[in-house]
Amino acid sequence: MSDAPESMSSASDGAPLLRGAENNGAEHRIDELRSTIRYHSQRYYESDAPEIPDAEFDALLRELIDLEAEFPELVTADSPTQLVGGAASATFSPVNHRVPMMSLDNVFSAEELQGWGDRLTRRLDELGAMGDRAGLVAELKIDGLAVSIRYEQGRLVQAATRGDGRVGEDVTANVRTIASVPHELPAGAPEVLEVRGEIYMPIATFTELNRTQAEAGERLYVNPRNTAAGSLRQKDSSVTASRGLAFWSYQLGEVIGGPELTSHHDTFALLASLGFPVNPEATVLAGLDDAYAHCQHWQQHRHDLDYEIDGIVIKVDDLALQRELGSTAKAPRWAIAFKFPPEERTTRLIDIGVSIGRTGRATPYAQLEPVFVGGSTVAMATLHNQDQVAFKDVRPGDMVIVRKAGDVIPEVVGPVLSERPKGLAAWVFPTHCPVCGHELNRPNGEADHRCVNLLCPARVAGTIEHFASRGAMDIEGLGEQRVQQFCELGLLADVGDVYSLSESSLLAIDKFQQRSVRKLLDAIDGSRSRPLDRLLVGLNIRHLAGAGSQLLATHFGHLDAIAAASVDELAAVEGVGVIIATSVAEWFADPVNQEVVKKLRDAGVNFEGPAPSELPQNLVGLSVVVTGTLPGYTREQAEAAIKGRGGKSPGSVSKKTDALVVGDEPGASKVTKATELGVAVLDAEGFRVLLETGTVPAPAGGAS
Ligand code: NAD
Repeated sequence: MSDAPESMSSASDGAPLLRGAENNGAEHRIDELRSTIRYHSQRYYESDAPEIPDAEFDALLRELIDLEAEFPELVTADSPTQLVGGAASATFSPVNHRVPMMSLDNVFSAEELQGWGDRLTRRLDELGAMGDRAGLVAELKIDGLAVSIRYEQGRLVQAATRGDGRVGEDVTANVRTIASVPHELPAGAPEVLEVRGEIYMPIATFTELNRTQAEAGERLYVNPRNTAAGSLRQKDSSVTASRGLAFWSYQLGEVIGGPELTSHHDTFALLASLGFPVNPEATVLAGLDDAYAHCQHWQQHRHDLDYEIDGIVIKVDDLALQRELGSTAKAPRWAIAFKFPPEERTTRLIDIGVSIGRTGRATPYAQLEPVFVGGSTVAMATLHNQDQVAFKDVRPGDMVIVRKAGDVIPEVVGPVLSERPKGLAAWVFPTHCPVCGHELNRPNGEADHRCVNLLCPARVAGTIEHFASRGAMDIEGLGEQRVQQFCELGLLADVGDVYSLSESSLLAIDKFQQRSVRKLLDAIDGSRSRPLDRLLVGLNIRHLAGAGSQLLATHFGHLDAIAAASVDELAAVEGVGVIIATSVAEWFADPVNQEVVKKLRDAGVNFEGPAPSELPQNLVGLSVVVTGTLPGYTREQAEAAIKGRGGKSPGSVSKKTDALVVGDEPGASKVTKATELGVAVLDAEGFRVLLETGTVPAPAGGAS
């Protein structure tokens, strides 16, 4: 494999001998790393079933790169550092790439990006190209799989995966099923044109696919990238067709004929003119300084997109310079991928616990060896319910993949099966409540187990904690631990008791200082005047959340009127269905709850709703999203203006949106999405007309 270490040693002084010994250790580690990397590459590229997160694979590769840099004598031509990952599998016919499909070198920090920029500038200077002035282009690094699609005389004739970069797999029939890939090009297209880009699965498509999998009791797919790869590399192209894959083009391979191109951004213009999807976020940069800011921007906004990206690709714009810079065996020198910090890591699943919520719902959760992922340390993650634990087949003692994407709560993706200890037992859902010992039951047709003991301490404490939470009565200082403590001391048995907490009873508690007691009592006092809808939220009525509470508070104007209303009267309120109405009526009919209401009334808690709205209710049934600020309105005020007229104003654009109001500094992805979905886009004037007339105005220019 590599030279024997002895050949490196010399007796003339101590150092080479020492290096020989180091080299020996390094050689062993290098061998180990190479075989581990090859194994995981095969799982990732050929089986579409990786066992470890990308960040861990990248760390192995990085270790190998660093060792090979330190011991260049140990570099071999077949090392994974020298090859484009993957190989063409025998399932598909091989396709020789006339122009190799390369990988990309990666950087992970501002310093590494600067290092790449410095090397690039030096090389360009050597080429006499004034390196610091060379134009750069930034593109999103789409997390999918690369394909090369060949057109001859304007017709799609072949599509291939990247494979090992020289030989890919023939997936023509499958690529033809992807709606955004043109089968024919307009007149004037080059005689031969190889278009390269990324096949990916939009997040919404992935979510929907997993929803149907869950409904059918099937295993869930792990992430959009692997699902896209698995969907494309199918024997039966009708399976690919059913998976809703999409394509972004970003590069050319072999080209014969057509216009002369001089820059990478010219390529985009050509691709777009021929009908290929070109990602709208690709942009020309002012220079390298701009590049890092751009990377940081997208690191923060990656989850605004409807598809996954794992970094930013920076490329030299000038095609002649690209040719001069050339490539290593694996990657072009004129491009670099800035990779975002990992959102998936592996860690040990120590145990599975079950927590009891305020509704009695019993939720299994993973107790994890703490792991830093997605920007924070994760030690716990919900496992939702019995079926999810079974689907994922995670067992205490497993190594598991943990994912934390943006603000989304952390998730256990699945076990690393290759590391499962022999004979590890599957987890069994407990039969009894871990808090009160009452039997847990799972009603027919429901996914959740419940503790039905209304007096279960976990339920009581959860209800009081919810009452005091920010979205309800907002009582600062009455958090989880305090509530638990007060319940244990017998000071609280229901939410009505919150207002009977007295200075003397609190001061009797060990280490509870006068100042903190006063603060808490003031906070409790202040909560007496919260709006009625917040009180309703705090009462923990099943199915009744913020929006429903607002509707009831506004419509009935008083808690007593809501309590006295029949199911029919409650359900007659626009936006309140029979399920909520029934639940509300049942809650108020229960003598235990009537006692709570009495305590709240006696404590002087506000039961009055807002004065009936004087605004015209002309937006009922319309859903209008706002992005950016408008003259005279912050975004929140614009949303309130919509809601005040009976409309809805959700935070994101969907098929159900009737209009998007766009102010200054809007969210680009909302505008893109609205345009894609054909949702009306309104400016400040359009918004004024909407509020006044209650109808979505036609866009300026006439067409509606
Ligand atoms: P790469 O993904 O880091 O970069 C090259 C690829 O980026 C290209 O082939 C192309 O497919 C893609 N790409 C996306 N947008 C692009 C754009 N705008 N311009 C150019 N290219 C763009 O390198 P790689 O060699 O394909 O694979 C390495 C990746 O695969 C790493 O993320 C690695 O973690 C992962 N991997 C993971 C495992 C595992 O076990 N988890 C195993 C092997 C590889």
